[in-house]
Amino acid sequence: MSRDQYTFVNPAELYADIKPQKQHMPEPGLDADLTPKADLGEESYRGTGRLQGRKALITGGDSGIGAATAIAFAREGADVAISYLPEEETDAQRIAGILRDAGVTVATLPGDLRDAEYCRTLVADAVSQLGGLDILVNNGGKQVFQESLADLSDEQFDDTFKTNVYAMFWITKAALPHLAPGSTIINTTSIQAYSPAAILVDYASTKATINAFTKGLAAQLAPKGIRVNAVAPGPIWTPLQPSDGQPQEKIEEFGAETPFGRMGQPAELAPAYVFLASAESSYVAGETLNVNGGMPTP
Ligand code: NAD
Ligand code: MG
Repeated sequence: MSRDQYTFVNPAELYADIKPQKQHMPEPGLDADLTPKADLGEESYRGTGRLQGRKALITGGDSGIGAATAIAFAREGADVAISYLPEEETDAQRIAGILRDAGVTVATLPGDLRDAEYCRTLVADAVSQLGGLDILVNNGGKQVFQESLADLSDEQFDDTFKTNVYAMFWITKAALPHLAPGSTIINTTSIQAYSPAAILVDYASTKATINAFTKGLAAQLAPKGIRVNAVAPGPIWTPLQPSDGQPQEKIEEFGAETPFGRMGQPAELAPAYVFLASAESSYVAGETLNVNGGMPTP
């Protein structure tokens, strides 16, 4: 039998065959170009009906963590809408094909998260194409390193906040009227929220904001029966990193600082999103679930 997410393994030795390699891609980067290939769970994720009949919207569902989450959700029985940038159409179509193979309804909804009007249309289109909405995963994000604050342009600062924070606000606000009790919202923060890197001042600030937004909104929506939580990944092998998420000289060491001594794979994040999306986590709200290779968090 081949390995699935329930197979017991030595987590320190898992994925020893996927070592980070220097490479540069223009933003937003494509999984199709990532070398070596990341594991999105294509071959390994096994569903057991944990999200049967649910309807999910996942931003940035074309690649990386969002794509691995989309695959897991579909195999757990959820209909899935994914958003992504138009230039990521090839990645998005590959993932859409994998989702359709799971026998669920799939919507592909390209556009720019920095645009409030697109964010509102995205929610309306997801609702109409899936026939409703009860899981929202805010996952799309921008990370571009800058060595010095002097080099951090107003435009980048604005783009990072628009993509990571404003889009989450616009999409969540538009989604709320559609979310019945039992629905869940899952935001994507980062280890950077607590341990900001010197070269990621704007990005880390957005991730701390996402944690606070998650906890405040969780308190507001809990009485309505809507749970809000976050997942905080550590260093994960996705196109975000080689497309100026990190300097080239840091890519080869990517993840070496974790207690496991390795980077994580998107497939290792998906079960965290499934847990927070499913009814199993009925008493979990305002939580940040860290999936970071063992780095201490507050
Ligand atoms: P990724 O590049 O595969 O996914 C990010 C996605 O964001 C892209 O695929 C793209 O579709 C979307 N996006 C970016 N700018 C956009 C825009 N203007 N309009 C529309 N879509 C846009 O990388 P990933 O690492 O899987 O990132 C997913 C999330 O995980 C992000 O929020 C990221 O901050 C977070 N995260 C990643 C890591 C890591 O090490 N990879 C660590 C912590 C947190
Ligand atoms: Mg992508």
